Amino acid sequence: MQEMERAAASLKAARNIVFFTGAGISAESGIPTFRDELTGLWSKQDPQQLETAKAFRENPALVWGFYLWRRNQAKQARPNAAHLSIQRLAASGRNVAVVTQNIDDLHERAGSIDVVHLHGSLKKPKCFACARSTDLEPNQYALPEHSMEREPPRCVRCNGRLRPSVLWFGEDLPVGIWKAAMAKVGGCDVLVSVGTSGIVTPAADIPEIALTSGATVIHVNLVDVSLGANKELMVIGKATQALPALLQAGFSI
Ligand code: NAD
Repeated sequence: MQEMERAAASLKAARNIVFFTGAGISAESGIPTFRDELTGLWSKQDPQQLETAKAFRENPALVWGFYLWRRNQAKQARPNAAHLSIQRLAASGRNVAVVTQNIDDLHERAGSIDVVHLHGSLKKPKCFACARSTDLEPNQYALPEHSMEREPPRCVRCNGRLRPSVLWFGEDLPVGIWKAAMAKVGGCDVLVSVGTSGIVTPAADIPEIALTSGATVIHVNLVDVSLGANKELMVIGKATQALPALLQAGFSI
């Protein structure tokens, strides 16, 4: 049997399905992955150097500007066929959950309801000092034209600087979020891992955790990212093509 057919058959037999997604699922919506070069004014910047508390302390206006740019990019992006096919499967009555590393909201905008954001989201900033989260006015998210920097707004409670509610390198994943993810991953029969390189830990351990608890793991990626386990299947292709094809083969949806 072909890898795609075996993957479709295991999905069909599953009671609980978890989609574990990474930057690759949003790449075809126009949001660059970690491995893509940044564009425009940001082309000379390394995102990994900007996504740390140290970078924010040293240059808050630049780091805040970087996230305003990313927020704008995510806002302009639309959910693609891969995000939409996950929602379609859930809407067909299957038990489907999403655990994502992405900070965009494309799963929610595709209509998915059960979504755990391991690395936070761009939605609502929080205070760098006291962690209080705050709603901002739309004009506070604007980045002046031809500019990379904007001074972050201040917290109304303690006057600390606001930062994005995302997990930066060197920060610990909140215990509650990890537990919520583990409850889903530990209880699934099939984990479909889409568009993730498996480099950023502890999220990168999730396919292995699913395998250890007896699930089948289906990887959907442009390249082979399998770990060599027995209950692993590798579907190579673009998320927007491979995922709808997989669900069509398994469920005719
Ligand atoms: P990554 O950038 O390390 O890897 C992306 C993976 O997706 C690669 O394995 C690549 O081969 C694959 N890929 C690229 N295009 C694809 C496509 N069209 N179809 C299928 N696969 C495709 O991303 P990661 O593993 O998610 O980890 C990096 C970290 O970057 C995460 O913590 C995440 O929070 C953050 N990030 C998020 C976003 C977002 O929210 N959209 C974007 C960039 C980075």
